[in-house]
Amino acid sequence: MATVSDDFDPYPVLDAACAPRAAYFHVPFCLHRCGYCDFTLVAERDDLIPAWLAALQNELSRLQQQRYPVDTIFIGGGTPTHLNVEQLTQLIELITANFVLSDGGEFSIEANPDGLDNDRLDALRDLGVNRLSLGVQSFDDQVLKTLERQHSRDEALDVVERAAERFPNLSLDLIFGVPGLSAESWLESLSTATSLPLKHVSTYGLTFEKGTDFFQRMQKGNLAVMPDELEREMYAAAIQHLPDRGFQHYEISNFAQPGFECRHNMVYWSADEYFAFGPGAARYVAGVRSTNARNVTRWINSWARSEIALQESEQLNADEKIREAVFLGLRRIGGIDLARFEQRFGVCLRRYEAEILQNHIDHGLLEIKSNHLRLTDDGRFVADTVISDFL
Ligand code: SF4
Repeated sequence: MATVSDDFDPYPVLDAACAPRAAYFHVPFCLHRCGYCDFTLVAERDDLIPAWLAALQNELSRLQQQRYPVDTIFIGGGTPTHLNVEQLTQLIELITANFVLSDGGEFSIEANPDGLDNDRLDALRDLGVNRLSLGVQSFDDQVLKTLERQHSRDEALDVVERAAERFPNLSLDLIFGVPGLSAESWLESLSTATSLPLKHVSTYGLTFEKGTDFFQRMQKGNLAVMPDELEREMYAAAIQHLPDRGFQHYEISNFAQPGFECRHNMVYWSADEYFAFGPGAARYVAGVRSTNARNVTRWINSWARSEIALQESEQLNADEKIREAVFLGLRRIGGIDLARFEQRFGVCLRRYEAEILQNHIDHGLLEIKSNHLRLTDDGRFVADTVISDFL
């Protein structure tokens, strides 16, 4: 990928008709940094929230057209609901002053059970949020403790009940592969989740990212990593259990009742463009991928001076766009529509990297069915390896 020039402007003037139809906002605050988390955030720095909001206002002011129309808005973090009602109101008013959500559009926010009181839930609903994604991770108190989460099973169950009264489109995240997590406990968390009024479930395998506390503990031998075989069994259990209860497997890590797939994330997996704002936020606008400064205070201080705060930016050439579209599109269980792909990129995917493709087909990891290229059932278990071969 080519790095773009120093005077690159990540906020170009766009014709509204071809501008991105999705916008992401990053809230970099949490009560506590969980030992496995490497996201862009600060913990115990609530004093920075007013300055972050002011900086966000400055970043948004770089948009040269007021109120772009979008189909999805996603507020992620960090823990967006760590903000109080007044701060959440300020944030959402800033967003809606710059973007107009289309009729029937999706407005998601990520939330954690701790501190998610009815005042926050009511405010979010009244401000137009229509999809809530809850970071529950487990219904086993011991596992929650290992993950250093700040809520208990009972608190999570209580929050789900209160949230479901206000948000019919409710999603929940679960993590497997956690040290000490048993197959029984994982199945119990899956069963509990599917007994709740949810429309969407995401399941992620725990990863040990460099720089995290968990990574260090693993290096020192103080944290036992789950054997691959057991982790695969847990993923297999999710793939079995969730569809049996009406949650269709639509992306490697995501399951939804029909019609409740996350539209915002579908934009990413379709390699479509999207706006993004806030520290560490990554955007794809006018063929350029760029990421904001990941250091929260650096990002705030730059925007306090109305200076653009970027970490990196890359202009994708035609070949890179194709590879990315394959890389992302194969994450969808339905795979890639070959006819549409050819229409969009002008290449026949059957002939593009034909050797790699045929090799994975021969090994039963990829298949072409109904003119769609997709991972097989076996391929889903080694998805990262198969998919990365196309990059
Ligand atoms: S609550 Fe989520 S975003 Fe915050 S530190 Fe924990 S894992 Fe990271």
